[in-house]
Amino acid sequence: MDKYTLLPEQLLYEGTITERQFFTAEPLSEAAILRTHTQEYWSKLQHGTLSRKEERAIGFPMRPELIARGRVIAQGTLDCARYARRDGVALNVAGGTHHSFAGRGEGFCVFNDIAIAANELLHTGEVGKVLIVDLDVHQGNGTAKLFAEEPRVFTFSMHGARNYPTRKERSDLDIGLPDGTGDTVYLDILYRHLPQLLDGVQPDLVFYLSGVDVLETDKLGRLAMTLQGCKERDRFVLQSCLDRQLPVAIAMGGGYSERLATIIEAHANTYRVAASLYG
Ligand SMILES: [Zn+2]
Repeated sequence: MDKYTLLPEQLLYEGTITERQFFTAEPLSEAAILRTHTQEYWSKLQHGTLSRKEERAIGFPMRPELIARGRVIAQGTLDCARYARRDGVALNVAGGTHHSFAGRGEGFCVFNDIAIAANELLHTGEVGKVLIVDLDVHQGNGTAKLFAEEPRVFTFSMHGARNYPTRKERSDLDIGLPDGTGDTVYLDILYRHLPQLLDGVQPDLVFYLSGVDVLETDKLGRLAMTLQGCKERDRFVLQSCLDRQLPVAIAMGGGYSERLATIIEAHANTYRVAASLYG
């Protein structure tokens, strides 16, 4: 949890961003929650009536402050999407909770922030077509399932084939990578697929889930990317969007390297790349 305070501090300290580039989100409206999540799930969250089993799937005991926090994070991703449409890019210092489904959470994810933001913008008509580029090492199973029947949202997930979740959902495009995949192979696959996707889908907005659990140092990741390779991944995604003038909203996703400094460095790189390309 420390990364959520340390990352902004690092970015300010090194001058990648300034205080006035920050925004603070309000809690997400109930209407927006219910465009993505079921009434039943929302009621259970509100009244603290999730079963033990449901709580275990999420991975922590539910407390009102965690729900409040989840609402702010989800609104943050929605705000990012709107700022991205204005400024080209915007980043959430949290979010990317892609294991959350309509009626349940799992894998530390309560609300699906990107799904909520996409659904809200489609509902208001702010966008007509959305592409989700999920490069967290874990498959975006909740997101895939939520949009399985939604032709206006294209879900792309590139993830460790043998990693969690064991039972994968079907994204519009899934690329499962073998354990130990390093920079060269990883980047080559990304270079081959992403430009085609951006040109084929022609979205009004891209959501990018920039999890840094692809690193070789990651305790859960099972891949073998270097910090430099991970930074190049971010650069390529952003440059590809920028070349096509596609707004991109970024949610942070996972990162579980042994050293906290490595996690911060990898996430900070996403911001550094954004600052250098859009600055
Ligand atoms: Zn992950």
